[in-house]
Amino acid sequence: MTDENLSPEHWAFRLTHILNAACVDDRFPVDVKAVAKEISKQLYPNDPVSLVKGRSLPGFDGALYKAPLGKKGWGIFFNSDVSSPGRINFTLAHEFGHYLLHRLNHPNGIECEKEGIARWESEYGQIEHQANVFAANLLMPLDDFRRNIGGQDRPCLDDLGECANRYEVSLIAAALRWVEYTGRRACLVLSRDDFVLWARSSKRAFRTGLYIKTAGLPPVPVPLSALACRQHELVGGRGSTQHPPGVWFSEECEELVLYSDQYDFTISLLHFSNVAEGFEPGEEVEEDVSDRYAKLLNR
Ligand SMILES: [Zn+2]
Repeated sequence: MTDENLSPEHWAFRLTHILNAACVDDRFPVDVKAVAKEISKQLYPNDPVSLVKGRSLPGFDGALYKAPLGKKGWGIFFNSDVSSPGRINFTLAHEFGHYLLHRLNHPNGIECEKEGIARWESEYGQIEHQANVFAANLLMPLDDFRRNIGGQDRPCLDDLGECANRYEVSLIAAALRWVEYTGRRACLVLSRDDFVLWARSSKRAFRTGLYIKTAGLPPVPVPLSALACRQHELVGGRGSTQHPPGVWFSEECEELVLYSDQYDFTISLLHFSNVAEGFEPGEEVEEDVSDRYAKLLNR
């Protein structure tokens, strides 16, 4: 298989292998700036990433630009108005993903809008998704993540926050990564003004009917009894509560909430019991991939 045909996961795995061998200590967070320059120079000496820096990019979080005429290589840029180190680091990895995966088909470069993916179906949305998958896999390798939060562990938002710090990504990026591999039944819901922006369920939760579909639908309201709707009960933007059946779903669940006034959204992490009630073996529903790394991943 040629480099051009490698999947985002395969590229990230290849680089993770190199980094594991090269860094004994100080493996995380991944120094994307150094990795992008060094790896691209080794693999494509005539077409490397020669510049990584912040600049004013109104309306964009990041961009990959071809070097000006007469110079070789590519530049990776992040929006210098963004102050969150986690968001910048994810953007750098996302742009490096574009370089590895998409530069041949986009010889003039790619500009990445704030709030990420517009539509999964469109070619534009698809390459954004691929760059996000690459970034998540590069910055948060699952073997390391699992050593910090085991497949059957029941993390609180602080546990996920510690992982976010370890990998220098946003809390949402870390929580989405955990939801991908956990063997528990859990659901992550992002809401604003009492409406669901998107939701992502673990595989086990999804298979037992615990998911919220949002793509292509009218706005889905957050349940009135949910803690996400009762912000006056939060202390320092945080809170947790145990819900009886019938609040979020037909099962009881624990809801852990964090409200971010910086971004004006609320994260609800829903933990369900690991005993699946009413589980129908073989019941597989087409996953709502458009929700997967939806708009606000890179917060
Ligand atoms: Zn992009």
